[in-house]
Amino acid sequence: MKSKWLTFLMFLSMVLTVSCGKDYNALFQERITELNKEGKYILNQYNDSVGKEHYIVYIDVDKIVVDTLGDSLQVYPLNVMEHFQYRAKTDNNGKFVFEKEITPKSTLVSSAQVDLKNKEMLIDKNIMQSANVKFKDIKCVGKDCAYVNVKNPSGNNNNTYIFFFNKPRLLYVTYGNYHSTIFNGKSFDIVDKDPLVKRGEGLYDQKFEYKAKMSTKGEIIQKDDYITVAGEYKIPVSAYASGEVDSYFAKIAADLKPTYYWNCQNCYKVVKSESKPESGFCESNFFTGSTSTWTIHSWVRLCKAGSLHTYQCQDCGVQVKTNDVPKMGACRYGANHVWSQLQ
Ligand SMILES: [Zn+2]
Ligand SMILES: [Zn+2]
Repeated sequence: MKSKWLTFLMFLSMVLTVSCGKDYNALFQERITELNKEGKYILNQYNDSVGKEHYIVYIDVDKIVVDTLGDSLQVYPLNVMEHFQYRAKTDNNGKFVFEKEITPKSTLVSSAQVDLKNKEMLIDKNIMQSANVKFKDIKCVGKDCAYVNVKNPSGNNNNTYIFFFNKPRLLYVTYGNYHSTIFNGKSFDIVDKDPLVKRGEGLYDQKFEYKAKMSTKGEIIQKDDYITVAGEYKIPVSAYASGEVDSYFAKIAADLKPTYYWNCQNCYKVVKSESKPESGFCESNFFTGSTSTWTIHSWVRLCKAGSLHTYQCQDCGVQVKTNDVPKMGACRYGANHVWSQLQ
C-alpha cells in the first residue's frame, strides 16, 4: 500500500515538472533563429545551462528590446530620447551637489535612425555632435545597458552614449572634452572635468575635477567627497556649504604662485620674489661711496621657496626655506655659499 502511494506521488511530480517547466533551451534557440531571419541585430545573448537565466538583447528598426523569454518584452524606444548626465555644481545656497541633469525636452531631443541592413545607426541627426555608430562598436552589459564611445569631432576625447534599458526615452550623453565615462568591467567611472562650482581668485583657469561611479543601471553608487584642483589639491565638498572653501582657494592660489630666492652675484643680497627682481644699483655702492666701482645687481635664482627644509650658509649665515636644495650663489665670505641643512 505504502509503496503504491509512493509510486503514484513520484509519477505525479514528474507529470507536474514536465507540464509546468518550459523548455528554455529550445525556446531560446527558436527565438535566436527567428530574430536572425527577421534581420534584427542581436547585441547580446545569454542562456545558462540550468535554464534559470536567459535573455536576448537586440536592435529593432526603432527600438532596443530585451527579451527574457518571459511574458513581456522590455522596450527601449530610439525615436524620442531626452539627454541626461550627472553634473557637479554648487546650488543657490553655495552647497555642492552632484545630480542627474536632464536636458529640457524643448531644447534637445534626439533620435537614433537605425539602419538594420548596414548594421549602423545615426544618433542625434539634428545636433552638431551627431554620431554614426556601427552596431559592432556598441557594447552591451548583461541586460542592463548598452554603450558606445564615439570620437569627438572637435577633440581627442570620446563622447559616450549609454542606453540604460530601465530608463526608456533617456539617453545618457557626455561630451569627452568636458566629461569622461569609462566602463571598468563592473560599473562606469565618471569624471566631470568642468564642474559648475564656485572658483576662487587666481583659480579660474585651473583644472577642477570631480569623480564618481555609476552602476550599469545608471545610478550613482559612489561619489568622491572632494574636488581635485590642478591635479593635486583636494577641496572637501563639505567646505562649500560651510564657507571654508574660500580659505582653501586662497591656500591653493598662493601655492600655485611660487616665489623664489634670488641672489645678487655682485652685492650678495638675497631676496624673495615671484619673478626676477629689478636690476639697478647694488646697495653696497652707497656704503663704500666709491663711484669708480659702482655695480648693478646681477640676480641668480637659488631655489623655490617652500616650507620643508631650512638651509643656512655656513660662511655668511644667510637662510632660505625650501622643499628643494638651494643652488650655489655668490657669498660675501667666499666664492659660493656653503649650505647646510638646519633641523
Ligand atoms: Zn647687487
Ligand atoms: Zn654665504
